[in-house]
Amino acid sequence: MTGGFMVFLFFQMVRTWKTYRWRRWFFVALGLLFPVGFIHNVIAMRGTMGIPIEEMIAGRTPFCFIPIPLLILPAALTKTLVFPGSILPNGGMSGGGMAAMAGIWLAATIVVGKGWCSYACFFGGIEEGMAAVPAKAKLSKIDSRWRLGPWAVLLAMVLLSLALFEPAYCMWLCPFKAVSEYVAARNTVGSVQNGIFILLFATLVVALPLLTKKRTQCAFFCPFGAFQSIFNKASVFEVKIDRSRCTPCVLCQKSCPTLALNDESIVRGETLMSCMKCGACVDACPKDAAVWHIRGTEVAAKPERARLMFLYAAWAMAIMFGGSIIAGGLATILHVFL
Ligand code: SF4
Ligand code: SF4
Repeated sequence: MTGGFMVFLFFQMVRTWKTYRWRRWFFVALGLLFPVGFIHNVIAMRGTMGIPIEEMIAGRTPFCFIPIPLLILPAALTKTLVFPGSILPNGGMSGGGMAAMAGIWLAATIVVGKGWCSYACFFGGIEEGMAAVPAKAKLSKIDSRWRLGPWAVLLAMVLLSLALFEPAYCMWLCPFKAVSEYVAARNTVGSVQNGIFILLFATLVVALPLLTKKRTQCAFFCPFGAFQSIFNKASVFEVKIDRSRCTPCVLCQKSCPTLALNDESIVRGETLMSCMKCGACVDACPKDAAVWHIRGTEVAAKPERARLMFLYAAWAMAIMFGGSIIAGGLATILHVFL
C-alpha cells in the first residue's frame, strides 16, 4: 500500500507539474501515522509512553534527529555524547544506531539542504495537516521578527545543553514529546516538563497552524530547522524567482508555509535561507516565475529538469525515511482494527 501510494504521488508530481499539492499528501500521512506506530511500539515494549530518565541516559531510547545540533559543543569539549538514543548499531528501541542515522542525515542534507524539513521530518506533517484545514487564515498579519525564533531557540538550547550536560530541548521544549515518548513524571519537575510539552504542542502544532495556515512550529520555533538552514547553501538545489517573469503579485509569499519569502527577497529573485523547498510558491505562481534551480546555472534554465532532479533525490529520501514509518503506522491500524 505504501509503495503504491508513494509511486502514485511521484507520478502525479511529474504528470501535473505540481509539487506541493501531492507532496503534502505524503507529508501529512507521515506526520499522522508516525505517532500511531511509535506509540503502539512504545506501549507494547514498555507499557507506557513515559520513559525513566535513567533509560534515556543509558541510550535505550529511539533515535531522533532534532537534538543533533545540541550534541556538538558537549561532544567537542568533553568527547561525550549527551543524547537520548544509542550510538551503537543495535542500540535503542528502534534497533538503529545513532551513528548510522546521523550519517544518513548528513548525506541527505548535503543533497537536499533544508528540503529535509519537507520530505523527511516525521513531525512537520501534523502541523501541515492542521494548516490545510481552514480555507482562509484568520491570522494573516505575522511580524517578520518571528522568523528569528528558531535561531533564538537553537542558540539557547545549544548553550543550555552545554551548561546542563543534557539535551535541553528534549528535556524541556520539544512539542512532539506529546505524541512520542517523554520523561516519566515521577516528581514535580517531570510534571512541569510534560505540561510544557503538551502546551507547546497544542499551541504551535495545532492552534496556530489552524489560525495562520502556516507551519508555525517549523517557522518560529524548531531549532533543528534553523540548523538545517545553515546547510541550505551546501545543496545544489534551490528555489528562485525569475525576475524577468515576476509581476510581482506576492502570491508566492502568501503561499509559503514558513515565511521564507518577503518583498525584498522577491525583488532580489531569491528565497530566504529558511526555504525548505516544499514547492508551494512554485505551485502558486501564476507566471511560472518561481522556479526550481540548480546552483551555477542561469535562473529558469530548464526549471523542469531542475525540479525533476531535485524530486528524484528528495523522493528517494522521503521513501527511505517516511515509507517504513507510513507502512508501520498502517500495519498498526490494521493490526488493531482487523
Ligand atoms: S507568485 Fe510569481 S509572479 Fe507573483 S510575486 Fe511570486 S514569483 Fe512573482
Ligand atoms: S520559499 Fe517556496 S519552496 Fe521555499 S519554503 Fe517557501 S513556499 Fe516552500
